[in-house]
Amino acid sequence: TRRKLVAGNWKMNGTRADLGELDGIAASALAHPNVDVAVAVPFTLIAAAAERVPTLAIGAEDVHEKPSGAHTGCVSAGMVREAGARFTLSGHSERRADQHETSHDAWAKAMAAHGEGLSVILCCGETEAERDAGRAERVVQAQIEKSVPDNAHADWFTLAYEPRWAIGTGKTPTEEDIASIHAIARAKLRTMIGDAANAIRILYGGSVTGDNAARLLSVDNVDGALVGGASLTAAKFVPIIEAAA
Ligand code: 13P
Repeated sequence: TRRKLVAGNWKMNGTRADLGELDGIAASALAHPNVDVAVAVPFTLIAAAAERVPTLAIGAEDVHEKPSGAHTGCVSAGMVREAGARFTLSGHSERRADQHETSHDAWAKAMAAHGEGLSVILCCGETEAERDAGRAERVVQAQIEKSVPDNAHADWFTLAYEPRWAIGTGKTPTEEDIASIHAIARAKLRTMIGDAANAIRILYGGSVTGDNAARLLSVDNVDGALVGGASLTAAKFVPIIEAAA
């Protein structure tokens, strides 16, 4: 059986003044040892966050695929590892949209992160237009095909299904639609990496809150949540950890 993982993504939010929120999140994680808890924070907060709450898995929201070099403004996996990150996100839909990242980029970043000993939460998910056109399943299958490394293993790799239209909108897919995509995602992983796919966690992300978490987390093949807005405060995030426990 797969342990649930509740992961936060602070996106471009937070300064040192907000790090106190992590105290309550870390306390809740310790109080619920059957759940894995992680928070991805802006680069600028990784070191301070990792020092403040050493028991909590702090991560990056992105890394560059190369270890070093002439890439102004970018940060490598080794750099975030040194700062205290234990994992990184890869292929988030906001980076696909804003920085024109592809599934191949998400693959390269996952490989680079794994090479530095980081865990990876790799994101996939369709747009609203793709869902309306009946293409959600095919889009997610193609993203997985192009972005999941051949050596993906539950020890370091997690997939997150985040339909773009559900992010920050208060809209969520029906439980049937989530179950359908997660089943298709696991079947696709199985064709790529065989039985190792059975242990890989597949998170749902998109407008998860304390109010809907218990319902969403009870869907078949939903092994946790990737949470944006509701991860910014302990008051909103802790109920999601509790729902997963
Ligand atoms: P929200 O929880 O704010 O919808 O964001 C989801 C997300 O993009 C997490 O990566």
